Amino acid sequence: MSLSQTAASDYTKGLWHSTSDAIRSIETFYVRPRWLFVRVETEKGIVGWGEATLEGHTEAVEGAFVDLRERFVGWDSANIEDIWQTAYRLRFYRGGPVLMSAISGLDIALWDIKGKTLGVPVWQLLGGKVRNRCQVYSWIGGDRPADVLAEAQARKDEGFTAVKMNAVESLGWLDSPAALEGTIERVKEVKSIGLDVGLDFHGRVHRPLAKQLAKNLEPHRPLFIEEPLLPGQQEEIKTLYGMTSIPIALGERLFTRQDVRPYFEAGCIDIIQPDVAHAGGLSEVKKIANMAECVQQTYDIGLAPHCPLGPIAFAACLQLGFSTPNFVICEMSWKMHYNAGEHDLLTYMFNPEVFAVREGMVSLLEGNGLGIEIDEARVRSEDLAFREGQVKAWRNPVWRGPDGALREW
Ligand SMILES: [Mg+2]
Repeated sequence: MSLSQTAASDYTKGLWHSTSDAIRSIETFYVRPRWLFVRVETEKGIVGWGEATLEGHTEAVEGAFVDLRERFVGWDSANIEDIWQTAYRLRFYRGGPVLMSAISGLDIALWDIKGKTLGVPVWQLLGGKVRNRCQVYSWIGGDRPADVLAEAQARKDEGFTAVKMNAVESLGWLDSPAALEGTIERVKEVKSIGLDVGLDFHGRVHRPLAKQLAKNLEPHRPLFIEEPLLPGQQEEIKTLYGMTSIPIALGERLFTRQDVRPYFEAGCIDIIQPDVAHAGGLSEVKKIANMAECVQQTYDIGLAPHCPLGPIAFAACLQLGFSTPNFVICEMSWKMHYNAGEHDLLTYMFNPEVFAVREGMVSLLEGNGLGIEIDEARVRSEDLAFREGQVKAWRNPVWRGPDGALREW
């Protein structure tokens, strides 16, 4: 039967895909501290891992996988772009954090499978390497940053050259300017030991205080300020952009090229921070990165993948970093405040040494696919504890001011 003779129903089933190695199964696993791993296996037994973590919304993303599983089991695992297009466009309702995180997890797993099938790292499939090491930054200070110097020193001793911290605790729409004073002191402390520091405003600083804080920070030259205002406020961010020389970064709550476009066109950001587990996986984030790039005088925006997440998402970010010219730095969740105790970035890996940080950088991942080996037994054990109700899915804290009014977290 020729392609032109294929019945319409065959298209909907994906039967026109050559089934050289069809998807046999798509599974999801909840693992602490707050991650959702995806395991895709092919008929030939190739296993790919993805990450669809959407912090605080695990059950919603798992719901989206009911549909993806029904649609794509039986499809050729090699046709990543067609699967992505079908998952995104065919379902009419598109975009948003839940659907895009689910697509992300599936997409990353399919790239892992393709790399393992062909015997190459994913960065080879994304155009080859443009660098040998990727700079990364770690976290200090937690949600309510206080004594940061000891943590900063510990990260420096571990090989980091840059860290990020929340700029402030919770704030009202208009707080006393005194609420901002601690931020400057903490930045000075971290910089005093020779580290660069990014400040995450976390969308919790409202406009009247954001402009004050940006102005106060300027003499201390932070690496960047992140989410200085909430997503959707591109015009207000543009005004802020004109008031400060500090690089402005955002993007963790933007999920597609359509979402980032208004910020690019407004000229209000320096660094785009798509999250590979939220923004459509490797396929879409690579396109966002290319869109942001400076070739042919387009937007001249750097890529700093957002990744306060698990090892699969981090490996995917590095694969982008090794193959993307405008990559600048990547978030790394090692010892992040959510990763308490035994559930940290390296917990579910058999080869944690590939994430070793030296001179602030992680070296080229040489393994096939994503280049990491996942401890599947441990992942399954964690997930079982969740299914049996011994472990609850993570939820973000609820913050209220002294007057009882809700505040941004
Ligand atoms: Mg952030």
